[in-house]
Amino acid sequence: MSIQVFGQPVSRGVAIGRAVLVASSRVDVAHYFIDTDQVEAEVARLRDARNEVAAELGALKSEVLEEAHAELVALLDVHLMLLHDEMLSDATKQWIVERHYNAEWAMSAQLEVIARQFDEMEDEYLRERKADLEQVVERVLKALARQTAPNGQAAGSGARDFAGEDPLILVASDISPADMLQFKRSVFTGFVTDVGGRTSHTAIVARSMDIPAVVGAREASRIVRQDDWIIIDGDTGVLIVNPSPIVLEEYRFRQRQIELERAKLNRLRHTPSVTLDGQVIELLANIELPSDAAAAIEAGAVGVGLFRSEFLFMNRNGQLPDENEQFEAYRAVVQAMAGMPVTIRTVDVGADKPLDRMSAHELRHEHSLNPALGLRAIRWSLAEPEMFGRQLRAILRASAFGRVRILVPMVAHMSEVQQVLQAVDRAKAQLSADGVAYTEVELGAMIEVPAAALMMPSLMRHFDFVSIGTNDLIQYTLAIDRADEAVAHLYDPWHPAVLQLVERTIACANEAGKGVSVCGEMAGDSAFTELLLAMGLRSFSMHPAQVASIKQRVLRADVRALRTQIGAVLAADSPQEACVALLKSRPN
Ligand code: PEP
Ligand code: MG
Repeated sequence: MSIQVFGQPVSRGVAIGRAVLVASSRVDVAHYFIDTDQVEAEVARLRDARNEVAAELGALKSEVLEEAHAELVALLDVHLMLLHDEMLSDATKQWIVERHYNAEWAMSAQLEVIARQFDEMEDEYLRERKADLEQVVERVLKALARQTAPNGQAAGSGARDFAGEDPLILVASDISPADMLQFKRSVFTGFVTDVGGRTSHTAIVARSMDIPAVVGAREASRIVRQDDWIIIDGDTGVLIVNPSPIVLEEYRFRQRQIELERAKLNRLRHTPSVTLDGQVIELLANIELPSDAAAAIEAGAVGVGLFRSEFLFMNRNGQLPDENEQFEAYRAVVQAMAGMPVTIRTVDVGADKPLDRMSAHELRHEHSLNPALGLRAIRWSLAEPEMFGRQLRAILRASAFGRVRILVPMVAHMSEVQQVLQAVDRAKAQLSADGVAYTEVELGAMIEVPAAALMMPSLMRHFDFVSIGTNDLIQYTLAIDRADEAVAHLYDPWHPAVLQLVERTIACANEAGKGVSVCGEMAGDSAFTELLLAMGLRSFSMHPAQVASIKQRVLRADVRALRTQIGAVLAADSPQEACVALLKSRPN
């Protein structure tokens, strides 16, 4: 039977493929693809873990036999039987051999398959054996965790090197931004999660991968089964499970149309980004990893407007990257961009971007009541001066290889500004004392909280440029958690208060003769291009995949004409409706 599930559309396009369910196991497991030559070793790893658990259960059984606990003996027999059951052992091996999942992923995927069969059983006694199965799987996962994975936990290349497979779509209750990053190098053609909002970092990484994604689809991971055929409509936020042949054909047709449109847009790659009235507009790229620089250049971006450096810091079990490792990463981007500006944002962890693999749910409930208002971004950096100093030195060293700019996230207090300036001076002095080369870098602040937008005149005395982080600016202006699907309908980039803060920030920076850019998702959303141009914005930073469609809007815009009409849009009760009406009434 075909089922539709509705969520938030976060990355455009249509994906059709088989569901890969990432179970939210009680034991946190890594999910990655292994290479063909690692399959044998991975199967052996699984076998060893199973043997270890069998020995463990056998030893436990001898202990309880001595103590004559008949019930416990029977329970351990059930566990041993489940451990050796073909449904668990053979099928798990199949996921490794056929799909190239790592052993932990294969195990949790198979747990999901069997657990659902238990759920459907009539017999209550049998249904309750699911808990035993979960305990057995948990033991195996723990045994696997005690072993080292091939290549030390690192994944294989992540790209499947076996051909002729159906496209795969990832379905999960929640995916942490760090896990998303791991999937970034893999083969999924779409993503669906039960939780999350449009600008949660998981959604942002999905968008940067330029593949269709739907978040906040609530029950998706419970409704979809391993290997089901599914369709993701990333434009409307619909997920279709087991579509009928007619629906499938309709979506395949749409997929082809989207491909054609993309090919058309791609031809604009090398066209200069200039409005009808001759204004040159800078289109920059947002990147998460050094390897993303290639996509930025390919898309025709003229620099990097936001390098989210925190992704270098994630999933490292507390081992943060040292100065040299960071320097190499920054230099790689600077050299790849060959003289174009590279804006490196200092680490912005916290809130929905935890350092270690942890879901937003866990973060919210186990660590801090209100993480978005807690020790995140520059607050964390200033609380960790050694770590901050290492990062600043690494960035400054990279400046010897090209044009580097430093961007500071979530500035809200003048005392933070003073501390940042001192930290930068200290890092420079240390490098000079050691005779290490660096050049002058521009220093910028992200405008992400209303306080910063309102303090623009003061900030402009200390910073060379600002970049407006609309994702957080909306969150903090409207008091809406950007990662919480329960309030996603209230997360409104068109809210008059948000637009006024954006306009004011752009105007203040322009008056001060300082650079101003928008690097939040608003910059890559073509519905806002004309409005931002009319506000005086000349620099936009977005996912590489969005550059072409924004350029198309820029090429058709007449900023002088738009400027005369912006007042009415900003004063309207519904700026969105006013903006749409204005654009419809344009002569072209
Ligand atoms: C923003 O807040 O708009 C931004 C660009 O930063 P991030 O999305 O990484 O928080
Ligand atoms: Mg932000």
